[in-house]
Amino acid sequence: MVQRESRPLDASLCGFSLELLRATLLNSSTQRLIYSCARMKTITLSLILMALTCAVVAQYFILRATHFDPGARVLAAIDLAALQSAPAAKQKAAPANSAIERTRKLVDEIRAAAYPELRDAQINIETFEDRADYFRSSFSFSRYLLPGKMRYRLLVNPCVFESQAPDEGVRAILAHELGHTLYFTQRNRIELLGLVRLAGKGFTARFERWADLQAIARGYGEGLKAYREWLYQHVPVDRLAEKRRNYFSPEEIDAILAAKQKRPEQMAYWLKHVPLNLREIQAGAQ
Ligand SMILES: [Zn+2]
Repeated sequence: MVQRESRPLDASLCGFSLELLRATLLNSSTQRLIYSCARMKTITLSLILMALTCAVVAQYFILRATHFDPGARVLAAIDLAALQSAPAAKQKAAPANSAIERTRKLVDEIRAAAYPELRDAQINIETFEDRADYFRSSFSFSRYLLPGKMRYRLLVNPCVFESQAPDEGVRAILAHELGHTLYFTQRNRIELLGLVRLAGKGFTARFERWADLQAIARGYGEGLKAYREWLYQHVPVDRLAEKRRNYFSPEEIDAILAAKQKRPEQMAYWLKHVPLNLREIQAGAQ
C-alpha cells in the first residue's frame, strides 16, 4: 500500500507561497502602492490630529469671546465637593440646584414665548461662579467634534438669585442668552471655528450687543434696562467700563426702544449693522 506523503507537498506549497509573496513584495509598483498607502495613512492621521487641535483652540477662543473663564472651568472640572466636607458641599449644592431649576423653568417659558427657532435646540443648564458675570452661553465641545445634533450650554451664577436681581431683568437677560444660542444654531461647525479669528474686544461688543438687540426685538427691552441698572450695582468697579462698552446701557436701550416704536423695521437693520454707542443709535434712528 502506497502511503500518501503529505508533508513534502505542504512544504512545497508553503515554499511556493513564500516565493510568490517575495516576488510580489519585490515588484516595484506594488512597493510604491504599499508606500503610498502608508503615506496616505500618515497624512490622514495628521489631518485628524490637526482638526482636533484646531477644534480645541477654537473652543477656547469662542468661550473666551463669550466671557469664558478657563480658570473657573478648571476649578469646576475638579470635583470640589469631594475635596470639601460633606455638609459644606451639601450647602453649596442646594443653591446651585435651585438656580438650575429656576433658570430651566424661565428658559422654557421664554423659548416658548419668544424663540420659536429654538424649539428643538438641546440646551443644558449649568452653574458657574464669578464676581462680575451672572450668565454665560456656549456650545458643547464634545458635540462639536461628533456628527449629529449640537448641544448648547447656558450657565448661571446662583448669586444672581441670591442678590435679588429683578424678575423682569432675569427674564430679559435670559432672552439675551438665548440670542447667543440662536447665533450658534445659525452657524455650522466650520463657521463656529471661524469665530476664532474674530475673538477680541470689537467682536465681543458686537456679539453681546447683537444678543441684546435680539432680546429687545422680542419684547424684553424694559426688562433688559432693569437688569443693567441692577448689574451696575452688582459688579466690581473695575469691571463697570467693560460692561458699558460691551452691552447696551439703560440710556442706549431707551434710545433703541424709542426708535423701534417709531420705525419697527430699524431693528432688522441694526441686527445687520450693530450700533456700538449712543451716537450710532441716534444717527440710525433719524
Ligand atoms: Zn452675552
